Amino acid sequence: MQTDNQVIVDGLTFEPYLTRDEIASQVKRVAGEIARDYAGKKPHFLCVLTGAFVFASDLIRETGLNDSNISFIRYKSYEGTSTTGSVKQIIGLTDDIRGKDVVIIEDIVDTGLTACRMIEDLKEQGPASVRFATLLYKPDSSQTGFIPDYTAFEIPPKFIIGYGLDLDGKARNLPDIYVIKEN
Ligand code: 5GP
Repeated sequence: MQTDNQVIVDGLTFEPYLTRDEIASQVKRVAGEIARDYAGKKPHFLCVLTGAFVFASDLIRETGLNDSNISFIRYKSYEGTSTTGSVKQIIGLTDDIRGKDVVIIEDIVDTGLTACRMIEDLKEQGPASVRFATLLYKPDSSQTGFIPDYTAFEIPPKFIIGYGLDLDGKARNLPDIYVIKEN
């Protein structure tokens, strides 16, 4: 449900936080950094489902890296509006990434547990390099000290939805990003 500028999902109220224009401009900046770092290379983008599918789709098109590949992987750690503390792999990697320059594309880094687990799993498969691009990064929530290589926005430790990010599967379709309203 959408009333004025607020969005209500499962009884929780969310307020506008980042507009589609602000998102597009930061996605373009990150894509430019990746394009510069991978010029002449064939990066293998790895989109982390489900939340990163919107970001990944915009990001890879902005890079202009026509020789790149993309595949998908799925991890889950959140239920409702908080982390469960345990990270589960739901869909594994089907492509061979041995010797490839892998760029993981994630929607949000919160505790950093998913990022660390993913990088550990991937390194076992012998890539030439692994870097990490995220739309959102909550430095104050980190439990791991993990710092992404590419970040579109650093944000405070608040729950966000929209532009691919969900609340129990809902609200991924919102073109803008919303933050949970504090009472
Ligand atoms: P971490 O393992 O870093 O704690 O969390 C990573 C995952 O938690 C993200 O891929 C995302 O699925 C979920 N997550 C963390 N913070 C948020 C948030 O503010 N909103 C939503 N929708 N998901 C989040």
